[in-house]
Amino acid sequence: MASIDRHTASSTHYAPHRIVIVGGGVGGLGLATRLGESLGKSGQARIVLVDRSPTHFWKPLLHEAASGQIDPATHQLQYAVQARRHGFEFEQGSLQSLDRAQRRITIDATRDADGREVLPARDIAFDTLVLAMGSVTNYFGVQGAAEHALPLESVTHAESFRRKLLDACTRANHARRVSGAQHVQPVSINIIGAGATGVELAAALRDSIRLMHRYSLFALDPERDFCIRLIEGTDRVLPALSQRISARAQRILGGLGVDVLTNTRVTEVREAAVCTHDGEQLASDIAIWTAGIAGPPVLRTLDGIAVNRNAQVLVNRTLQTTTDANVFALGDCAACPSDADGFLAPRAQVAHQQAMFLARALKCRVGGEALPEFTYRDAGTLVGFGDVGTIGSLSGLRERPVFVDGWFATVVYRLIYRRHVMTLTGFARMTLDTASHWLRRRVHPVIRLH
Ligand SMILES: Cc1cc2nc3c(=O)[nH]c(=O)nc-3n(C[C@H](O)[C@H](O)[C@H](O)COP(=O)(O)OP(=O)(O)OC[C@H]3O[C@@H](n4cnc5c(N)ncnc54)[C@H](O)[C@@H]3O)c2cc1C
Repeated sequence: MASIDRHTASSTHYAPHRIVIVGGGVGGLGLATRLGESLGKSGQARIVLVDRSPTHFWKPLLHEAASGQIDPATHQLQYAVQARRHGFEFEQGSLQSLDRAQRRITIDATRDADGREVLPARDIAFDTLVLAMGSVTNYFGVQGAAEHALPLESVTHAESFRRKLLDACTRANHARRVSGAQHVQPVSINIIGAGATGVELAAALRDSIRLMHRYSLFALDPERDFCIRLIEGTDRVLPALSQRISARAQRILGGLGVDVLTNTRVTEVREAAVCTHDGEQLASDIAIWTAGIAGPPVLRTLDGIAVNRNAQVLVNRTLQTTTDANVFALGDCAACPSDADGFLAPRAQVAHQQAMFLARALKCRVGGEALPEFTYRDAGTLVGFGDVGTIGSLSGLRERPVFVDGWFATVVYRLIYRRHVMTLTGFARMTLDTASHWLRRRVHPVIRLH
């Protein structure tokens, strides 16, 4: 295949230039929307977004969906509608293979609930391909984990966790009624991995259980009859953040009655127990794995595209893959060099910035100009504890990151999602959406009870 200078323009086979983006998540959908508005509507390029699902959901809200605090259906955005409004095309299907010489991808057939084919497998040709397929849960080969610990990657997983929680409550409530005992064996929920996702989920669960109790869903004691355990292999929660944030988070979790086990490595997950390195078997009604991510397995099979050991695609600073200058990658599925040693962390902030960068860079590529290089600016990290508040640090205000908490931190935390909605729908629709959610929370129960 003809090689082209990494920093210069594309070789265009199709007129207009075809940009295919696989994955409509935080990064991919933002990119498709921006490129559709600029190159798609003006006819300078044809933009095609491919996703295995028909709707988009912002992953950082998954812990709120899993704990029943939001109805995911009211936060989903339909790709077909987004495509129509913003000048791109949408194809539903899962990426199956890549043919770099022919510049073509193949996506799987889509099937209905009975397994009947709805759409056949299809080939989609490209001049520029962007892989934006996010990540999957990394169980690090722990025995039984994939079978017995739920992942939290999608709305389907969040819903299945929520159902399990309601079922476990109903079962314990019934056992208590039948036995007539004052208290029953506590409902044990084990969250494995105390990064931001695990910590936020633990706090949200405590809130949800109290709310369920308030609505008289069950007669269980929300404190004594539930054991929420957060299990972490390193010596502190939020190990990627500062000692100060970590210590504060640990105190808040303690106040919420979350049982935090640090320096505890999970060695096996069974149907009703989580086993640790020191031989303990922790009772488990529900186990959920929030301890690490890897690139989707299909990335290991894409026509020689180089990946790291976590199956993330190796890219250089133009976000072109190190294997093929016509193939780019962004977000969680990309291993992008950071200014410090190593790669950028898998975060919504990174995916968003890379998408905005590529929206500009791909315009240069279509116009035959040199490609710029991506620079990441860390804006900080915030961790939400529901009603208790938000803590974290913001960067860029002073020379060093500034610790924040209280109402200010909570407002900024909420604004992050609003900014995402604005990127996708514009200011007016985002404002209406915010108002409709505000009204919804005043009219409907703030917890989903079935
Ligand atoms: C519970 C949870 C909480 C989080 N909280 C935060 C937070 O507070 N702050 C933060 O910065 N980050 C957070 N993250 C991480 C953040 O969500 C990710 O870093 C971000 O979503 C990555 O964006 P992305 O565009 O790379 O992928 P994603 O947003 O994951 O999107 C990937 C898309 O690709 C599609 N896809 C996957 N495989 C295929 C395939 N084979 N074919 C076609 N389509 C495919 C998927 O359907 C999906 O739409 C959280 C993650 C989780 C799970």
